[in-house]
Amino acid sequence: MIIIMKANATPRQVEGVIQVIQSLGLTPHLYEDADATVIGAVGDNHDVPSERFESLEGVEAVKRITQPFKLASRQFHPEDSIFPLDGFQVGGNEIIMIAGPCSVESRTQILETAQAVREAGANALRGGVFKPRTSPYSFQGLGEQGLEYLAEARALTGMPIVSEVMSQTQLEVMEKYVDVLQVGARNMQNFNLLRAIGETRKTTLLKRGLSATIEELLMSAEYILAGGNRQVMLCERGIRTFETSTRNTTDINAIPVLKSLTHLPIILDPSHSTGDSQYVAAVARAALAAGADGLIIEVHPDPARALSDGRQSLRPEKFAELVRQVRSIAEVMGRRITPVTRPAPVGW
Ligand code: PEP
Ligand code: MN
Repeated sequence: MIIIMKANATPRQVEGVIQVIQSLGLTPHLYEDADATVIGAVGDNHDVPSERFESLEGVEAVKRITQPFKLASRQFHPEDSIFPLDGFQVGGNEIIMIAGPCSVESRTQILETAQAVREAGANALRGGVFKPRTSPYSFQGLGEQGLEYLAEARALTGMPIVSEVMSQTQLEVMEKYVDVLQVGARNMQNFNLLRAIGETRKTTLLKRGLSATIEELLMSAEYILAGGNRQVMLCERGIRTFETSTRNTTDINAIPVLKSLTHLPIILDPSHSTGDSQYVAAVARAALAAGADGLIIEVHPDPARALSDGRQSLRPEKFAELVRQVRSIAEVMGRRITPVTRPAPVGW
C-alpha cells in the first residue's frame, strides 16, 4: 500500500502517517523527491482499509500495489531509480560500463587489466575473489589477498570495484573493500544473504538465477530493498534453455519487461549470457538498443590462460572496440558513456 502525501503536507503530517503505519505492525518506507512525498506501508496489510489512511491529515491518495514485489515495483516508484556510485549516476543518462576479469588472479593481472579497461572507457572494475565454481577442484579465488589487489587497482585508476559476495560470512570484509556487492546467479535466492545485504547501504548488483523467472528476480531484489538498501541494480546474465550452441540464452526480452515492471537500473552481462567472446559485442549492442542501463563484461589480458571463464573473456583491444560500438548505440538511445572523470594519479 502506498500513501501519497499532498504537495504541501508538513513534516508533522508525514510523521503522523508513519506512526499509524507502525501502529498497524507495518514497515514504513519513505520516498521523498522534489515532486512528491510517498510512504510505502509494507507488510501484511490486506485487512487494513485504505480509509484508515485517507482520513489522515496531509494525505492526497492511497493506492494498493497489486504486484507481489512492492518496493521494487514501478507502481510504488514510477520514476527510474538513479543513485550515485563514486560520482557516477547509475540509472540516469550515463550508461555504466563495468569491465574486468572473471577472477582476480594476481596483482599484475588485475592492475594491468584495470588500466586497460579504464583506457578503453570502463567506469567500474569487476573481479571475483570468491568464485562460485561448479567443481570444488577449480580455482576458488584469491580471497582477501585479491581484495587487496582490487583496492590497489582502485587507487591506481579511480574506478569503483564490483566483486561477488557468496555468503554472509564474507560480507564484513567485502564491505571494507568493494563499492558494489555482486550477488551471483547461484545465490539469487540465498535469502539470508539478501537480507544481510539489505541491512548494508552498499550498492548491489543482483544477478538473475540460472532458471529464475523475472518475477523471482524482482522478489529477490525486494528482500534487499525491504531492509532499506535502495541501491540495487538488476543483472540479466542469460538463462538455461534447450539451446546448447551458447553457454546460456540471453533473455533480451527481460530488459524491456523489467523496465516496465521496476524502477531499478538494468545491467546486461553478455559474457555469461553467451559464454563465447565472439558473440559478446553483438549482444552488448543489442542490450543498449533494448534499453539496458549498463553492461558488465569480462576482460582478460590473456584469455587463453585465464583461471576462469577465459572462453568468454575479451582481450582489452576487443573491449575497446566494443565500447566504441556501444557508444554510438547509446547516443541513438539518448544516453552516453562517460569515462572516469577523476584524474589518474600521478605516475599512472
Ligand atoms: C561472474 O560474474 O563471474 C559469475 C560467476 O557470474 P554468474 O553469477 O552470473 O554466473
Ligand atoms: Mn565469470
